[in-house]
Amino acid sequence: TFKALRIDKGDAGQTVSTVDFDEADLMPGDVTVRVSHSTVNYKDGLAITGKSPVVRRFPMIPGIDFAGEVIASDSAEFAPGDKVVLNGWGVGETHLGGYAEIARVPAEYLVPLPEGLTPAESMAVGTAGYTAMLCVMALERHGVLPASGPVIVTGAAGGVGSVAVALLAKLGYEVVASTGREEEAVYLRDLGAARILPREELRHPGKPLQKEIWAGGIDSVGSVPLANVLAQTKSGGAVAACGLAAGMDLPASVAPFILRGVSLLGINSVTVPKPLRIEAWRRLSEDLDPEKLKAMTRTIGFGDIVDTATSIVEGKVRGRVVVEI
Ligand code: NAP
Repeated sequence: TFKALRIDKGDAGQTVSTVDFDEADLMPGDVTVRVSHSTVNYKDGLAITGKSPVVRRFPMIPGIDFAGEVIASDSAEFAPGDKVVLNGWGVGETHLGGYAEIARVPAEYLVPLPEGLTPAESMAVGTAGYTAMLCVMALERHGVLPASGPVIVTGAAGGVGSVAVALLAKLGYEVVASTGREEEAVYLRDLGAARILPREELRHPGKPLQKEIWAGGIDSVGSVPLANVLAQTKSGGAVAACGLAAGMDLPASVAPFILRGVSLLGINSVTVPKPLRIEAWRRLSEDLDPEKLKAMTRTIGFGDIVDTATSIVEGKVRGRVVVEI
């Protein structure tokens, strides 16, 4: 057996407990990994609190990402001793996840630990940071470049937001960080934000077309703030949308799309094909300043997962959280 966090569902709802999990109860997969680190992402918060139905198999070991070392492999791609990283593919939702000493997954879910990152650093990046990178790459593909003008990041003090601010600043963009936490202004400036925009200024429904300010944006909150960002995006600009921290709705109009040629770029980190996945991890190892990553990361123990999961859905977690398994 090995230590794992387990979500069970009964008539009275779901319960979360630390258990001794039987290796025989792991799900099929050709690679078995000794997990050294995981993280707490917003989706882990939703899974553990049960606030949204992200877990679709019970019992479930939550934890949507992990880093560790291969201990057994039937795949030609990985051998015992290889260091690997996993994020997405429904791990922690439909496939047993990362809050466990042992994980077993199909080889196609895994990528080699990116050169230049330690397992702990790879989980400091985690799904949130990897998604921030996918957002940056989507803006680049759309031609939103540092010379295009200011780029806004919403939910800036969160995980996706913090990594997005650091990446964009390092790449030379003028980054405006939107946050509801005034007290994090110094933190965000240190990550590279040129300016802070209080969340309040995007919170109220606005006109379908507003003053053109942004060349682009990275949005992890959705709802009214995203509608306002779209309405303030310059002609030909683009906004990469990946999250719903403010809500799943999008009370917007088509005006920015049809009158300004603005694009909304949808980002789903879960099912990204392997070549793009490896490219995103490679870019992270190059374009994310290790000192900034350190500044945005806190490390917790296994016993702190549940409390942190509760805090993250309340919008109280700053930056990234690594779990030492
Ligand atoms: P996080 O650390 O909790 O960051 C979310 C941030 O959003 C908070 O820190 C807060 O930033 C802001 N926020 C919270 N509640 C808000 C509200 N009611 N109104 C406006 N802003 C609010 O979570 P995360 O792990 O970075 O994830 C962020 C979002 O991206 C989540 O919705 C997550 O599900 C999503 N996500 C999606 C993918 C994908 O594949 N599409 C991948 C990763 C994450 P401030 O305090 O700075 O305002």
